[in-house]
Amino acid sequence: MGKKTGFKEFDRQVEAKRPVNERVGHYNEFTEPMKKEELETQGARCMDCGIPFCHSGCPLGNLIPDFNDLVYTGQWKDALARLHSTNNFPEFTGRLCPAPCEEACVMTINQPAITIENIEKNIVEKGFAEGWIKAEPPAERTGKKIAVIGSGPSGLAAAQQLNRAGHLVTVLERDDRIGGLLRYGIPDFKMEKWVIDRRVKIMEEEGITFITGAHVGVTYPSDKLKDFDAVVICAGATVRRALPIEGADLEGVHQAMEFLPQQNRRNASDGEDKLGTNLTAKDKNVIVIGGGDTGSDCIGTSIRHGAASVSNFELMGKATTDRPAGQPWPFWPMRLRTSTSHEEGVERFWSISTKRFVGDENGKLKGLVTTEVTVNRENGGFKIEEVPGTEKEWPCELALLALGFTGPETNTMVSDLGLELDARGNVKADEKSYMTSVPGVFAAGDVRRGQSLIVWAISEGREAAHQVDRFLMGHSDLPQKDAEWDLPRV
Ligand SMILES: Cc1cc2nc3c(=O)[nH]c(=O)nc-3n(C[C@H](O)[C@H](O)[C@H](O)COP(=O)(O)OP(=O)(O)OC[C@H]3O[C@@H](n4cnc5c(N)ncnc54)[C@H](O)[C@@H]3O)c2cc1C
Ligand code: SF4
Repeated sequence: MGKKTGFKEFDRQVEAKRPVNERVGHYNEFTEPMKKEELETQGARCMDCGIPFCHSGCPLGNLIPDFNDLVYTGQWKDALARLHSTNNFPEFTGRLCPAPCEEACVMTINQPAITIENIEKNIVEKGFAEGWIKAEPPAERTGKKIAVIGSGPSGLAAAQQLNRAGHLVTVLERDDRIGGLLRYGIPDFKMEKWVIDRRVKIMEEEGITFITGAHVGVTYPSDKLKDFDAVVICAGATVRRALPIEGADLEGVHQAMEFLPQQNRRNASDGEDKLGTNLTAKDKNVIVIGGGDTGSDCIGTSIRHGAASVSNFELMGKATTDRPAGQPWPFWPMRLRTSTSHEEGVERFWSISTKRFVGDENGKLKGLVTTEVTVNRENGGFKIEEVPGTEKEWPCELALLALGFTGPETNTMVSDLGLELDARGNVKADEKSYMTSVPGVFAAGDVRRGQSLIVWAISEGREAAHQVDRFLMGHSDLPQKDAEWDLPRV
């Protein structure tokens, strides 16, 4: 375990952030590295509790007390091995994970959690800095060919695992660069894109083939998938939820995912031709509708553009910073969260519903009208009621819709392959075998579970890889979380 008395001696410390006025002047990451000794002290706070609830809090089952102890005792290379044994890409989760493990940490019963996510990021960054992370091509090839469709975190995890099992893996990606939402969605100030390139280079050295501009079902005929022994669909849940109210077609009302990828492209020095409609928040009153991660990313990006004002509307009521009574430790609580973008100068409003957008004589957005609402639980759902007399008009020249995603696209590859959908409209795949309704075709990540998290996408990619390997070879040595269950031999 860390240090027996560490949790009593040392306070929680995470990486400091650069001041707001400085960081909003650029799109780079803005945390200050911590010293090795400081990180080792943080590792010492972990008390290796008898039942480490952080394990079950982490969807990957990361071996958290083990790597905390190894960091505390200065055995960083072993800590990296322990971390990589359950997580292909700690450099993604160490920067971007909401860290459900920390909410499940036993310390949080009466103290701040162990800094699990920050330790994770620093283990892997030390691994890269020391040259410990190298290509690990398989010793032998099986001769089996596998197509992974989509290069987000689930596709990358599935590809790396299957390649390690000796299969020949081709990743087909419709975009012009690899990474899925890590590349075109998540802003550079949360994760700079060289972090993806660094990992993809290693995966190429391991023997994985990446083909960009391959839109399966459009530019890459779905029929060609017959050339592969198995297919893993990791195409994400990309259908954006609309807000079908009056004025939604005005110029100035845009989906978050029209706005965010453009900035990632500008940062990558892409020309105007790749941007589509050139959206900017500069000098505009921006209203971001939707309070999740995507909304928060729109806020940080708008502030960096130089918006005149940025407001954020959320339909649900304002949560408290404490755990709600019905969501006790170690469960993930729906509490009020303040992201780094929220710290940068947004006004947040809760219990507010947008009624209509208002345009000028040229069809351009000039405002929007809201009412206050009450939201109460009723019959397993929510009952939303307007508060009479609370209608209000807000000046707004750019409204960004960050209302989430309804599920995967189903009109091309999914329909070509005849894949069944589940009741929520996601690609139906068995909970344990990850096989879809078509034998030999598997699904993982957001395409299967709906809009979710990077840590879940990596977990699904790894689990699906185990099942694909077993399907092809009759057995698999690839790790899996629930080792007691497996597909019958084929
Ligand atoms: C703006 C934003 C911010 C987010 N921030 C966070 C965060 O901070 N932390 C967190 O944990 N999660 C975050 N998420 C959620 C997270 O990004 C996703 O859950 C995760 O990326 C899902 O991974 P995936 O591999 O399943 O799919 P995706 O990352 O969506 O990747 C799917 C890939 O498939 C490709 N594709 C689709 N159809 C085809 C086809 N027919 N042919 C070829 N390629 C195809 C797509 O181009 C895409 O590259 C965020 C999401 C958004 C939108
Ligand atoms: S991947 Fe996320 S949940 Fe798992 S240990 Fe890392 S920060 Fe925690």
